[in-house]
Amino acid sequence: MLVVMQQGATEAQIQRITARLIEDGFNVHRSTGAIHTVLGGVGGIDDFDTGVVEVMEGVKEVHRIVSPYKLASRGFRPQGTVVKIKDVEIGGGSVVVMAGPCSVESHDQIERAADIVADGGAKVIRGGAFKPRSSPYSFQGLGEVGLKLMREAADRRGLLVISEVMDSTQIPLLSAYSDILQIGARNMQNYNLLRDLSHIRKPVLLKRGIAATIEELLLSAEYIMSGGNYEIILCERGIRTYETYTRNTFDISAIPVIHKLSHLPMVADPSHGVGRRDLVPSMARAAVAAGADGLLMEVHHDPDHALSDGAQSLFPGQFAELMPQLRTIASAVGRSL
Ligand code: PEP
Ligand code: MN
Repeated sequence: MLVVMQQGATEAQIQRITARLIEDGFNVHRSTGAIHTVLGGVGGIDDFDTGVVEVMEGVKEVHRIVSPYKLASRGFRPQGTVVKIKDVEIGGGSVVVMAGPCSVESHDQIERAADIVADGGAKVIRGGAFKPRSSPYSFQGLGEVGLKLMREAADRRGLLVISEVMDSTQIPLLSAYSDILQIGARNMQNYNLLRDLSHIRKPVLLKRGIAATIEELLLSAEYIMSGGNYEIILCERGIRTYETYTRNTFDISAIPVIHKLSHLPMVADPSHGVGRRDLVPSMARAAVAAGADGLLMEVHHDPDHALSDGAQSLFPGQFAELMPQLRTIASAVGRSL
């Protein structure tokens, strides 16, 4: 249930509604907008009479939420969520580019990546230190050493860091080195991990699972929000269909659909979306045109010798050529980059 407070509702009125909802067993989540405060009541008794709250002082309107996700729904924060990390805002007027190698491989490699990424105008460097590889014999990542190397390279160029957390035991380590914790497609429905991430106060980028519906993605976001961590960025990274030409089928329509259903920022990963570097630039351009709040892309100084995902990693020259194109498209749809 969502209780939308009147413009100028007093703190005492908000507290009275909150107390009334708690009395009936609801967990109350508060969203403070520029005009209205919205109280999200989760749980509580099934046949709760919304009329009881409707007539209380300071209340503008009360809505029952029919979707299975509540806090992730657009109604909870109609104005949209902006995830702010230092001077970077994800979900605001700018399209935020996060780029870098699939995996952190060495000091030299990640330092070069930081230069490619920063010179192109991206704000965040990506790189996996713990890799969810399909084969146990493939490169599994450098672990803490990799995180340390990436943090140093990022700090040298004033970049933020995003890196994947694969299980709950890694949360403290990732939180120490990374500004955004990435949940990979394979872990979108790892509910224990999601629950543990709900108790920290650190931005999380949640990728759509390869066979997950949009509703399932939003329900996974709900797990994280239900513990009070509202700093979530959603990510379309391609889903598995019967098409085999591309690694996955990049579902660009998920971008406007999510913007309609949810207040959370939505970014797109065209690299895993198609799995081939010749197709990544066109999909990146399309994602920005479709309203993506950011892009997550793989770029490597020497993709042919990358230890993971070389085929979908852009060459530095491709990345440098793509960034101004994305800027032009962003401004055509009322955004900056
Ligand atoms: C990655 O970003 O390198 C990655 C493993 O992504 P996904 O979880 O989307 O496969
Ligand atoms: Mn990858």
